[in-house]
Amino acid sequence: MAEMDRLRLLAVLLMAATVIAAPTDCACDAGNPASMAVRQCGLCREAEAQPVDKKIFFLKDANPRKPNRWLALPRAHVGGNHELNDIGAAGRAALWTAAIGKAKELWGPEWGVAYNGAQVRTQCHAHIHIGKLLKGVEEGKFVVISNPSQIPSRPGEGLWIHPSGTRMHVHVGEQTTETVLLR
Ligand SMILES: [Zn+2]
Ligand SMILES: [Zn+2]
Ligand SMILES: [Zn+2]
Repeated sequence: MAEMDRLRLLAVLLMAATVIAAPTDCACDAGNPASMAVRQCGLCREAEAQPVDKKIFFLKDANPRKPNRWLALPRAHVGGNHELNDIGAAGRAALWTAAIGKAKELWGPEWGVAYNGAQVRTQCHAHIHIGKLLKGVEEGKFVVISNPSQIPSRPGEGLWIHPSGTRMHVHVGEQTTETVLLR
């Protein structure tokens, strides 16, 4: 094998090893609508249907088994896994602020928001679940914050947030998080 080929093969192997396998690893491309025809890109199609000047939008959860749920989404598509982590800090803070605002509007002090980890998401487009926090779910690791701009972002991880006095808990390091919210 020529030296160049050997280097190329090594590069491919390294890349394959660093990709985090996720159900929504998606090759969809907003410039090519046909690439967004598959089931896991349903929220990408919803985003495309929004007015172009709308940076963030809300959808009622389409699942009839989750009649109390809403979603907050950015209109823009980010590449790969559409991770919140891949959206810039300002865009991410704006999305969390909007999601929390909508959650408060719907559920007052009982609000909760949740972002599922990459391993369990079934839709590629970034989305935050909005709902009513269930009783008795307080458990696990959390950080206390006072502003959505302080919400941490770690690739692949899910998190859920609820009010605690005048501040908020951000529960971190989980995958399935939306189950803390009323369906
Ligand atoms: Zn997709
Ligand atoms: Zn998308
Ligand atoms: Zn908590």
